[in-house]
Amino acid sequence: MTISALGYLGIRTGRLSDWADFSTNLLGMQPVDKGGSMRAFRMDDRKQRLILGESDGEGLDFMGWEVADPYSLDQLADRLENHGVAVTLAPAALADQRHVARLIWFLDPDGNRVELFCGPETASAPFTPGRPISGFRTGAMGMGHAVLHSGNVESLLTFYRDLLGFQVTDYGLTPYPLYFFHVNARHHSFALVGSGRKGLHHFMIETTALDDVGQGYDLAMLEAGRVAYTLGRHANDPIISFYATSPSGFFVEYGWGSPAIDPNGWTAFETTEGPSLWGHDRLHLAEDSPTRRRLKDMALETGRRGRRAPDPVCHLLDGVIGRE
Ligand code: FE
Repeated sequence: MTISALGYLGIRTGRLSDWADFSTNLLGMQPVDKGGSMRAFRMDDRKQRLILGESDGEGLDFMGWEVADPYSLDQLADRLENHGVAVTLAPAALADQRHVARLIWFLDPDGNRVELFCGPETASAPFTPGRPISGFRTGAMGMGHAVLHSGNVESLLTFYRDLLGFQVTDYGLTPYPLYFFHVNARHHSFALVGSGRKGLHHFMIETTALDDVGQGYDLAMLEAGRVAYTLGRHANDPIISFYATSPSGFFVEYGWGSPAIDPNGWTAFETTEGPSLWGHDRLHLAEDSPTRRRLKDMALETGRRGRRAPDPVCHLLDGVIGRE
């Protein structure tokens, strides 16, 4: 009855046309006709992955997590209700709007709307990217990852890990708690940042070629204020990515090259090094910001220690050689 992937994300925004331009021309998603106050975008054979709803505010509207079948959905609903969570079975009209067979929803302890679904619809026409990228790494790994702010990490940890069954991949405790969770072979499909705020910190989508990220970076650098974190490599994924400021203000991480993990043979561990092996300079913070300086110093220290991630190309070759 486990959750298997991040299926889709919903964003509420008063900036639909800016989002349409950003999603299509920078991220390379494919807009699909939705009409009215909604916009939807494809990343693969699914009918939609990113859904925008017109609103006065900006931020996360809902996360859509995938389960295998209606039986698993009912079992999860029972478990949530037994722990006092109010679960709503969505009417058929909403399931149709999400292009899924069956849908339940509820709120997490911070009030974020969580949807669980089964039976996603696939499109008959092939995915056509909004700019000429190679495509997105999705499939069994899902859409990517979502990272939430919280001032209430302990409650959310209990909720997502113990009730929904997310597995902790690794975590840091200082200067604030940071938890990464997997639900499949993606290093993390979900994370919590104990920043004291609420809502979406960023979501991540992964391309199938490094050049898609590099060419996206060139485009993002043409726009004043678009790049929030420079190109860099995370220590734990270890993905090569940059972060763009979305029209809603939160970030979108655009990356490539994260090796798959073995979700069944994994033991969670605490990390003490900085978040990045190199790069990821926080351009959205002032030059003299103590946070920006501290994170830059941590990356430089990681470099001084000669810490490297496995080369993704070698990693892929190892997989091919291992199969022969
Ligand atoms: Fe990320």
